[in-house]
Order: sequence, then C-alpha cells, then structure tokens
Amino acid sequence: MIRINENYLKLQASYLFSNIAQRVSDFQENHPERKIIKLGIGDVTRALPPACINAFHSAVDEMAEDSSFMGYGPEQGYDFLREKIAENDFKARGADVSSQEIFVSDGAKCDTGNIQELFATDIRIAIPDPVYPVYLDTNVMAGRTGSFENGRYKNVLYLDCTKENGFIPDLPENPVDLIYLCFPNNPTGAVATREVLKTWVDYATENRALILYDAAYEAFIRDETIPRSIYEIEGAREVAIEFRSFSKTAGFTGTRCAYTVVPKTCTAYDALGEKHLLHEMWNRRHSTKFNGVSYPVQKAAEAVYSEEGNAQIKSLIDYYLKNAALIRKEMTGLGYACVGGDNSPYIWIDGKIDSWKFFDLLLNNAGVVCTPGAGFGKCGEGFIRISAFNSFENVKEAMVRIREALS
Ligand SMILES: *Cc1c(COP(=O)(O)O)cnc(C)c1O
Repeated sequence: MIRINENYLKLQASYLFSNIAQRVSDFQENHPERKIIKLGIGDVTRALPPACINAFHSAVDEMAEDSSFMGYGPEQGYDFLREKIAENDFKARGADVSSQEIFVSDGAKCDTGNIQELFATDIRIAIPDPVYPVYLDTNVMAGRTGSFENGRYKNVLYLDCTKENGFIPDLPENPVDLIYLCFPNNPTGAVATREVLKTWVDYATENRALILYDAAYEAFIRDETIPRSIYEIEGAREVAIEFRSFSKTAGFTGTRCAYTVVPKTCTAYDALGEKHLLHEMWNRRHSTKFNGVSYPVQKAAEAVYSEEGNAQIKSLIDYYLKNAALIRKEMTGLGYACVGGDNSPYIWIDGKIDSWKFFDLLLNNAGVVCTPGAGFGKCGEGFIRISAFNSFENVKEAMVRIREALS
C-alpha cells in the first residue's frame, strides 16, 4: 500500500490569497465601474533592466550555434556569475565570502525550503511571527512540527515581532537549534542594525545553533549603517547561511535566479557532537538534485553587476522606494503607526482594528487592496501590509482615495 507523508495533513490551507481574491472579485461584481488598485502583491511590476535583457538576448543567440552552444552547466552556477557575486555583493562591503561558497539556484523560496534536508528532524526551530509562510510550511512538511492548535503549530518556537519589540524578535528564552531571520523583513519591512545581528550571531555561536538569513530585500537598504549581509558581522561565517535573490533586486520573479551562500567554515553536528561542514553537504545535495540555472538566465543575472546594469537596478529600486515613502508618509499623516517603507518595499501598518476589517474598509471605501497581517501569523493581527510594487501613478491615486476614505 502506497502511503502518504502524513505531515502534509497538518498543513493549514492557505486561505490568505484566495480569500483576498474572492473579496476583490465580489467587490468588482457589485461595483463594475470602480477601478481597483492592488497594493497587496509581493511581486514586482516593472520590466527587466535593459542591461539584463541585452545579455539575455545575446546568450540565447549563443545557444543557436554549435560553436557557442552550452549544455549542462556546473550545478553550483557558472564561475562568471559566482565571481561577480562574491566581488560585488560581499567583498566590496567588507564581507569575506568567496565565489566557491556561492550556490546559484532558481529561487530563494526553493533554497530556504530545501536547505532543511541537511538537518535532523528533531531539532528545535525558531520562526518569526509574522512570517513569510515558506519557512513554516516546509518545516511542517518535513515533520519538524506538531499539530496546529489555537493558531499555532506545536514544537515551534515562535519569535514574536510586535510593537513592543519594534518588530525585531527577542532572543529565545528556551534553547533552539535552527533560527530563521529575514531582513529587510517580509511582511513588516523592519530592518536589523549591526548590533541586533551581532546578538543573534553571538547567540548562535554560544548555543551551537545555525541562522538561516533571508536577505531577499537587501537591495532596498539605503541606510549605509544597516548591514546588507549577515557576513558583515564578525563570527557569522561559522553560524549562518544566507539566501539572496535577483527576484526583488532586478525584477527576476518570472525569470528565476537566486543564490545561497554556505561558507566553508559553517558547521553542524552529528549525534555524537562531531562537527560536519555544511558546505560539503549542500554541495552534494545541490549537485545531486539540481541541474543548475539556465545559461541565458545566468548571463542576464551577471549583467546586474555591469556599470549600466547596476545603475538600472538602482533606479528600479529607487522607483519602488519612492512609492514606499509616499505610502508611509500618507498613512503616518492619517495617524497610523508604520514600520518599513524606508529600506523596504513593504509598509506594515497598525490598523488599530481587526486586520480583515481594515482590509474590507480599504477595499469597500477606497477600492484599494492590501494584505491583512493576520495572514502572516498570530502577531500580524491588527496590522495590514501595503506593498510599494505598483506604478507611482497608481500609488498616488490609492493614497488620495485612502485619505478620503479614512479621514
Ligand atoms: C520574494 C521573497 C523571496 C524570493 O524568492 P524567490 O524564490 O527567489 O523568488 C525570498 N524570501 C522572501 C521573504 C521573499 O519575500
């Protein structure tokens, strides 16, 4: 008898986006004349930078000739891309990461999920609340949690991110082995200072724990004092794996390219307490189960590091940050406390009422779609997330309508 992985039965149906879609389509049906502005999505809206498109095109042309055609590539990624990443994203910022420690992949989502294969099932995990749902659900699938009761899974240490702690989780009171951190944060938009990251790196070092650091939004950091990589922190090379993506940085959500850094000094332990190198394990996993990212896509990603590519992605992100600044300014002006939106495309707003009620209020009275915070975890109740991924014109109009609806 073929049996299922019963951990899948513990998963909570993800009603969030289907529920939003349902309410939006009901509203549109009743008000066909109203133009709805969507500020709920976590997807970019602007085209790939021209430098990436040019590189993409020429790489496709190379594939058309026997003399320049590329077959299977190295699973870890081509050196031309790994070297640019190490040089520009790390060494230029004083972070000691070599090209050989970079694993190019098709997504940070996949990597944050797949990496857990390297760890025992009975380790203790700490996951922020509210959270990007992938970290939690992939651990449920792997059997690392208990059942879902009263809005939370058993055997998970939730790191509450609240108004009281400024949406930066406190260190766990009970020992944990694997810690998920994401800065700039999705959904809250909070960023971590050097001091905050240092306390986590020190905690991991003292407790022989490992940090999974999701830096998918690092390109939105404009404050030079905020670290973009956890490897800017002393000691992190021993206790942290970092996930990066071209998705939000350069508009690659539909093109697919990301990378994970597993330093050669990063270790975990077997049951006897012997150290093992995670780099070797991930290399084995990646080359066994992954075929590498396609050559034209890696060429397109490499173009991000050219002089013109770099200028183009900066202006792409500046565009979204201008939207974010407007949203933040308007909502603050209306008397709502906000986090994010300055070094992040997300603004996390204290709606002061039930988050679905606030969602309905914005939809019905302003024709604007946001994301109710409760969809990201228990601590998200009472908040909404507004995303800056839309055109400036739409954001401007949305803010005019919200002001009329709320004041
Ligand atoms: C969008 C996003 C990513 C990027 O995922 P990809 O699979 O590379 O597109 C990673 N982490 C978070 C928190 C995100 O919001």
